[in-house]
Amino acid sequence: MGRGAAGEAAREEVVRVARSMFDRGLTHGSTGNVSLRLGEEILVTPTGCSLGTVAPEDLSSIDLTGKHVAGPRPSKEAFLHAAVLRARPAAEAVVHTHSTHAAAVSCLADRDPQDCLPPLTAYYGMRVGCLPLLPYHAPGDAGLEPLAERTARTHHAMLLANHGPVVAGASLAAALDAVEELEETAKLFFLLRGSAVRPLTATEFAALRKPRNSR
Ligand code: ZN
Repeated sequence: MGRGAAGEAAREEVVRVARSMFDRGLTHGSTGNVSLRLGEEILVTPTGCSLGTVAPEDLSSIDLTGKHVAGPRPSKEAFLHAAVLRARPAAEAVVHTHSTHAAAVSCLADRDPQDCLPPLTAYYGMRVGCLPLLPYHAPGDAGLEPLAERTARTHHAMLLANHGPVVAGASLAAALDAVEELEETAKLFFLLRGSAVRPLTATEFAALRKPRNSR
């Protein structure tokens, strides 16, 4: 699995997205990971690797239980990707970042854990919508896995406390779009903090979600 024309195209796509994320400052150091479903397996970026220099042959393959099946050792956070893709059979890809503004929101003490960012713009409403804040877990803490899986059954985006966002999409492009919209909205949230803000009303928000809530 993971070879042949489809496998090669999938590897190229993961690498293109990973490098683009790094080049545009959505990830730094060796943080962030990208995954794409490929048949019964999942292609995922490897451990200890900068997304800025990752190459197609560097990608790992895991199965839906998160078990490493081929290639270099997967990211330590690969279990999150497997959990989200198990919970969302229609999702094809997952993107996780430690992007600055979303990570900053994840460190705030005053956020609603059911939905931690206000719907400031229509694009945020369409691409993210509702953003649960999952409680802090140390890196590698297996307790996060069932929580992420359960949350992903009803939400395609979530924010890990003191950490960063995990976002699924029907395609890698859709997951990337959503994580970028989340980061930009988190930036707006801090720009507007202390100002009198008019978020979208419940009616305006509901109208946006109707045609796209199947993601
Ligand atoms: Zn992380």
